[in-house]
Amino acid sequence: MVEAATQIFGKNPLSDYHILVQMTDQQRGGLEHLNSTALQYTRTGLETPEGYEDFLSLVAHEYFHIWNVKRLRPAPLGPFDYERENYTTLLWQAEGFTSYYEKLILKKAGLISQEAYLDSLSKKINQIESQPGQALQSLAESSWDAWIKAYRPDENSANATISYYTKGAVVAMLLDLLLIAQTEGEACLDEVMQDLYARYYEQANRGFSEDELKAALEGRAQISLEDFFAHYIHQTQALPYEAYFDKLGIDFLWETASSDKPYWGMAVEGKIIRQVWEGGPAHRDGLSAFDQIVAINGIFPPSLSNWLEKQKTGARYEYTVLREGLLKTVFVSLDQTPPPLCQIKPRPEASTIQKRMQARFFGNKVKRILLDCKEGFWNTLARKTA
Ligand SMILES: [Zn+2]
Repeated sequence: MVEAATQIFGKNPLSDYHILVQMTDQQRGGLEHLNSTALQYTRTGLETPEGYEDFLSLVAHEYFHIWNVKRLRPAPLGPFDYERENYTTLLWQAEGFTSYYEKLILKKAGLISQEAYLDSLSKKINQIESQPGQALQSLAESSWDAWIKAYRPDENSANATISYYTKGAVVAMLLDLLLIAQTEGEACLDEVMQDLYARYYEQANRGFSEDELKAALEGRAQISLEDFFAHYIHQTQALPYEAYFDKLGIDFLWETASSDKPYWGMAVEGKIIRQVWEGGPAHRDGLSAFDQIVAINGIFPPSLSNWLEKQKTGARYEYTVLREGLLKTVFVSLDQTPPPLCQIKPRPEASTIQKRMQARFFGNKVKRILLDCKEGFWNTLARKTA
């Protein structure tokens, strides 16, 4: 991962770096510093392959911050004014690009397969496309309002906001595709990161503005990105997945079949409804966050999730709920689980140029340049933990 991250920028400003891992009960997170990172991860998390990969992603994410955010950064993110909040419209670049690269680093380091990599992209796309807030809050707004929204989530966050981490990563992916297509694989997002790093960190040692970021992307893409920024950063227009993947000879397909699994469109904790998703059955038929479910068709099932699994889609139920101390009756029909996932499939009949561009996009395995790890450190760690 150290080698893969270093090769993205072509250089590494550090000769040593410390990773402090605190194994916790439930926490997952990391904080980037100039020469180190402090991570928190669940102590049982490394026991499954998914958890192990997620932990590696966290390490790659924080390590990538050595360049992006701790050195190369949007102007308000350093030097900080510690007296007040520091506002920027660019957290989608700072955290979004880093989230995009965390999986690409694992792919380049040979730690995950191409299938697993494409799967991680589909998951991110699915996450934002199934969130109603995606149509309401732009990436620039999501970044700007981080102080009052992202870090103060409430019952309506999923309906009204979008994560600048996840959508920022998806936009980074689109920019990567665009740059590769425009240069026929000669350049990708890596080169833009190198340009920015040289210019704003190494030469000027100051933060960059949105216009400067756009200019660096346009310098490599050789087209205007005025519309791209207007539509996808400052507005909430639908993202152009199909067209961008198509140029590289890759099919992007939405799953069309609904599953037979019943769907009620809400999150319930114990007997309390915590979230109601806009457009879902609960929302449509009148249930509300903080309603306390007293009974469904006259009884309270011992396990709500078991109950839900056994029901039929289309069936209508009488919910008795306590809302602000008042007993209410609400009738709710169950829907089919909406079709979520997309598939990203490289076409076998892609042209030679397209295959070259795909190789760039998939992040071919790096050559070993820095380290000679005969015994993979992380494998050793995983064994010890297990
Ligand atoms: Zn981060």
